[in-house]
Amino acid sequence: MASKGRFKKGQKAINPFKKGHKTWNEGLKLSESHRGKLSESHKGQIAWNKGKKLTAKKKINQVIPRPKYGIENPEWRGDDVGYDALHRWVSRKLGKPKYCEHCKNTRLRHRQYHWANISKTYKRDVTDWKRLCVKCHASFDEGCGRGKRGKRKNY
Ligand SMILES: [Zn+2]
Repeated sequence: MASKGRFKKGQKAINPFKKGHKTWNEGLKLSESHRGKLSESHKGQIAWNKGKKLTAKKKINQVIPRPKYGIENPEWRGDDVGYDALHRWVSRKLGKPKYCEHCKNTRLRHRQYHWANISKTYKRDVTDWKRLCVKCHASFDEGCGRGKRGKRKNY
């Protein structure tokens, strides 16, 4: 059988032919010489298709890098979310408060001591913060108007 159509004898395959790969002529009874020629011509076609598919798949699987956010949000909003963030900032800078600077109480659990902002302007200044227990913090905030807010959290 001579080479016909677009299948040229000796056409080089991009990918090596895989054993067990299903071809259109599978199961057909052909002479040994026919089988060799057909598989050879067909090999090139399969490889060409396979190459295309692999390229497309690679593009889909490309990893899109996510933008990284810093630990500290530079935007100071001044709401409770920012208030929370600022307290975390103070804790990172000065550590967790373990006593009250006002009543000198040291017997409470760690969670009952808070960082209170002295100037009430919530500066990112470590000298503008002091350690207070829950009680002193509440009265300290009330004296500055913060206690009047309906939504209150324990700090
Ligand atoms: Zn206190």
